[in-house]
Amino acid sequence: MLYKDLAEVYEELGKTTKRLEKTYILSELLKKAQKDIIKEIIYLMQGRVFPPWDERKIGMSSMLVIKVIKNVTGVSENDIKKLWKKLGDLGEVAKELTKTNKQTKLSSQNLTIQKVVGNIRKLPELTGEGTVNRKVGIVSELLSNSSPIEAKYVVKTILEELRIGIAEGTMRDAVTWAFYPKIAGIFFRCEKCKQINPAADKCLSCGNEMNTKFKEEIEKHFTNCLEIVSLEDLKNLDKYEFIKTKDEKLAREVYNKFLDDIQHAYDLSNDLGVVAENLKLHGIKSVAEVGIEVGTPINPMLAIKLETIGEALEALGRPLLADYKLDGFRCSIHKKGDKVTLFTRRLENVTKQFPEVVKLVKEHVKGDSFILDSELVGYDPKTGKYKPFQDISQRIKRKYSIERMAKELPVEINIFDILYYNGESVMEKLQSERRKLIEKIVTPIKRRIVLTEKIISGDEKELEKFYDQALKAGVEGLILKNLNKEYSPGRKVGGWVKIKPTLEPLDLVITGATYGEGKRARALSSFILACRSGNKFSRCGMVGTGIKEKEEEKGVTFTQLTNLLKPYITSEKGRHVDIKPAIVVEVGYEEIQKSPTYESGYALRFPRVLRLRTEDKKPSQANTLSDVEHIYKEQKKFKSKIK
Ligand code: ATP
Repeated sequence: MLYKDLAEVYEELGKTTKRLEKTYILSELLKKAQKDIIKEIIYLMQGRVFPPWDERKIGMSSMLVIKVIKNVTGVSENDIKKLWKKLGDLGEVAKELTKTNKQTKLSSQNLTIQKVVGNIRKLPELTGEGTVNRKVGIVSELLSNSSPIEAKYVVKTILEELRIGIAEGTMRDAVTWAFYPKIAGIFFRCEKCKQINPAADKCLSCGNEMNTKFKEEIEKHFTNCLEIVSLEDLKNLDKYEFIKTKDEKLAREVYNKFLDDIQHAYDLSNDLGVVAENLKLHGIKSVAEVGIEVGTPINPMLAIKLETIGEALEALGRPLLADYKLDGFRCSIHKKGDKVTLFTRRLENVTKQFPEVVKLVKEHVKGDSFILDSELVGYDPKTGKYKPFQDISQRIKRKYSIERMAKELPVEINIFDILYYNGESVMEKLQSERRKLIEKIVTPIKRRIVLTEKIISGDEKELEKFYDQALKAGVEGLILKNLNKEYSPGRKVGGWVKIKPTLEPLDLVITGATYGEGKRARALSSFILACRSGNKFSRCGMVGTGIKEKEEEKGVTFTQLTNLLKPYITSEKGRHVDIKPAIVVEVGYEEIQKSPTYESGYALRFPRVLRLRTEDKKPSQANTLSDVEHIYKEQKKFKSKIK
């Protein structure tokens, strides 16, 4: 398949913001894609050439790309930089300069997707002497064979800057539309161009107004129909082109089931490319066969938040499993033979950073192969007491002095679940069975490798007591788990519930701010928060979270907040501005800490703006320093006992 076809799709996608339209365009592309390249097409559409879990970075700087453009077009670096400044994007620069360049046009041939992916994939492998020249050579080969549009997207892909707004959900839906039978009532046939569309106002193919009354019309397009009265009738889906039912609710359920099946396969493989490739090669039944693989990261199961034990009991049933909720970082532990691999929740491989964890797992967990779910929690080696996540987070990024760090900031492995054991997935097993299995295979050692503290109970009082005990033990709260549920990767399906005490939000005044960098240079991007202290305002934190980038998103945007604050700016120093107290914002946070950084003596941990309070609160009505002190003491009550 030619890269030109893909470049056209990128252009088309860039022209619309509508999710349905994007899904349609992508599904049409996937239908046309050949089986040996479909995986790569999915990656390229998401702006990458490696699977999402693969950590290789293309590693090509803007400066190197400028060298390539110079090499290919003969335009000087200075002129390229000038145009870059004007257009703001090296992809656009490449497009402009290849347009007018005879050199490229003369030698250009039909660039294939394989060639583009193949060349880009070579880049991260290059090291040592002559790397720069070899990189420039590999990319120049692509650009000198590119049309202007192709050049634009090759450059954007290489710089890992391709943003055409395809959310994972859109890609998943496109895969479903491309490979599953259409459902009458969810999909309709356009009377004008005869294409099949979902219930959009206008035909996604020709733009004609859709008449969604006649769902039977779909029959004129397809012949192989499966008529159903319940979900159980869904069999041999590969044989049918469309599905019909008299029950409209059932039609929606079928559609959601299809999406769920793809999502499930994606959660397991973390690779929609693999899912689509399987569909193309082996049909719909292959989706059920996409399995977990030791060594490939899986999105961990997530918990929904509820406020009370009572609510959790109602949601999960009795009895339930109550686990300590620890403040560390989620770690997925994979072992096959002698090889142990550790992944974070963001699917980053952190094996090298935690050699002691690898050793402990090898020595204290029985089994030839397994995938365990755990939380790694830091503790003070002198006192043995838990430390907050913040304190150990530096170990995750650490590249040097790893052994020393492991001694200074040791972690306790808290195992709470298992997904795979000795060659088989155990995700489908019930929570109760999975817990029994980890109890059987792990030999715990205090402060090194343990199972999470737990009870199984259906008694609200007993669970309340356990919750209290957890908070006194210095952990964040509880994760409550339905004993009869399977493991659902990547999803908040209600099998797990988290409860933790939340502290009341504070209404604080903005007294300073800093301008952002790059794209955000014109807007203020981090804001100093202050509480009232007598007639003055005392700083107690800095916030940049909770504020939105775009107008469409709910909440205040950086631009709106900047405009609100501008009239109150009293002085500027570099990127920093002082602001007269005028604007009040409601701020949520995880905890209040003592801090010498701010004159209030306190700092909010993980603050986030919840909303503006300009309408209903004046600075004189903001929270006071004594409010902050009071919350600090209250929160300490349950933490102090253990620390
Ligand atoms: P979420 O994970 O729900 O998106 P979040 O990132 O704000 O929200 P938390 O509110 O801290 O996370 O709670 C969920 C996290 O708690 C889990 O992702 C996991 O890392 C951690 N955790 C701690 N103890 C356990 C446990 N016993 N069982 C499951 N998860 C646990």
